[in-house]
Amino acid sequence: MPAVLGADLEVPVKGGRLVGYANLDYAASAPCLEPVSAAVTAALPAYSSVHRGAGYASQLTTARYEQARHTVRAFVGARADDAVIFTRNTTDATNLLAGCLPAGATAVVFDTEHHASLLPWERVVRLAPPAFPGEAVRAADEALAALDGPKLLVVTAASNVTGELWPIAALAHIAHRHGARILVDAAQLVPHRRLNLTALDLDYVAFSGHKLYAPFGAGVLVGRRDWLAAGEPYLKGGGAVRSVAPAGSGDTEWHEDPEPRHEAGTPNVLGAIALAAACDALTATGWTALVREEERLIARLRAGLASIEGVRELSLWGPDHPRVGIVSFTVDGLAAREVAEALSGEYGIGVRDGKFCAHPFVRHLLGTTDGGCEDGTASAVRASIGIGTTEEHVDRLVAALRVLAARGA
Ligand code: PLP
Repeated sequence: MPAVLGADLEVPVKGGRLVGYANLDYAASAPCLEPVSAAVTAALPAYSSVHRGAGYASQLTTARYEQARHTVRAFVGARADDAVIFTRNTTDATNLLAGCLPAGATAVVFDTEHHASLLPWERVVRLAPPAFPGEAVRAADEALAALDGPKLLVVTAASNVTGELWPIAALAHIAHRHGARILVDAAQLVPHRRLNLTALDLDYVAFSGHKLYAPFGAGVLVGRRDWLAAGEPYLKGGGAVRSVAPAGSGDTEWHEDPEPRHEAGTPNVLGAIALAAACDALTATGWTALVREEERLIARLRAGLASIEGVRELSLWGPDHPRVGIVSFTVDGLAAREVAEALSGEYGIGVRDGKFCAHPFVRHLLGTTDGGCEDGTASAVRASIGIGTTEEHVDRLVAALRVLAARGA
């Protein structure tokens, strides 16, 4: 396994002691992989602006940036003619695509989505959380059948709340049967599982570097070129434009190729290099080894949670449905914020609490209509793992929760 930076970080806990930090908040942002940091450091001495300079550093940086695009394309198994557009993050990618939907298009989304995939759409049909995977396919089928005009099914590949995997191949099939396209939010999938856009027949995928061990602020949208080539340039400015006529003597001519068209301004080159380095590092490690280790640790964590009275794991499709290394839970008698603060302040464990930018879904899982915002009372605690997580981290969390659950009882 590649090393992660900060594995030896020590943090203060109650009583002034220092303990090794147990970072169990990978689903928010994963730590930086050592090879990612090395790639960025190696690129810095010759760093320059891309695409416009004749100087050696500019040429080298341009080559590295375009190589990063190529690496990302291969990483997600994209078709040769798919666009690969660097963005700020997943949210930026979904919003970019939203701005390129053909006139009159409708998006169909489940209420289980992260807000990044739930909110950007101008015309949208929102579907209730499905009771089982087949129900998701049936509900999408019905909703798409009822719509005219261009349509886009938007779905997560792995839930950021429960970690549960969605039947994206079956959903892609249904979408295409209705002449719709599918956008897969892969933000929580790609750090944990191999994604092959071509094999799954997906039209678009979006994800973020900072969840993929590359915290340098780049994300990506990959997919079919036509809507992206026809859509309004996402940002207007240098790089996106082919020619600007003198005032009153003609139109501004925008690039049709999606990559320059939607990447106006100086791009986040180091972010793209970092993202590509993370893709390379995961591929070199091998998915079999990555998945095996993650499954061992998440099974240990979930068994530990299940053994504590008063700790309840959240799940849409039941405890046996396959999932990535993410688990959310509540502790009877304690607010999620209290639990998260105690884990941090007393045990040196970092988790997330709240509604995880998925308000409708968390409300549904908690069986509440409480309209509270992100950190309102109806909230949960989320622990998430990845490369660098150890048995000691997992066991420390379980032991701490045993103590806290007794406090809440
Ligand atoms: N989609 C999912 C499933 C996520 O978990 C997240 C982040 O938590 C996002 C989208 C948004 O990612 P970003 O904040 O990097 O735009």
